[in-house]
Amino acid sequence: MARMTSEEALDLILNADLKELGKMASARKKELHPNGVTTFVVDRNINYTNICWVDCKFCAFYRHAKDDDAYILTNEQIDEKIDELVAIGGTQILFQGGGSP
Ligand code: SF4
Repeated sequence: MARMTSEEALDLILNADLKELGKMASARKKELHPNGVTTFVVDRNINYTNICWVDCKFCAFYRHAKDDDAYILTNEQIDEKIDELVAIGGTQILFQGGGSP
């Protein structure tokens, strides 16, 4: 299978059915790794704060600074989470949090 063009990729992003896209991805993986090898990385999302001022209507994560369950992790807490990840062989971190003012 030849590598798809940028135009073909954009067409898939805009128009492809999700199941069909999954089937295509699986077929490509089998083509590249016919022995059934699937790889992955161990990663962790670290939510350093849930305080946010944006108030997106769909979001159940954010809190305002005055809320009882609002938090900001300390550097030590973040270090501990990173150490936990490293201890299990993790290699990737996503820092994610509210838009704290
Ligand atoms: S945390 Fe992200 S998604 Fe949630 S209200 Fe803030 S900006 Fe929006």
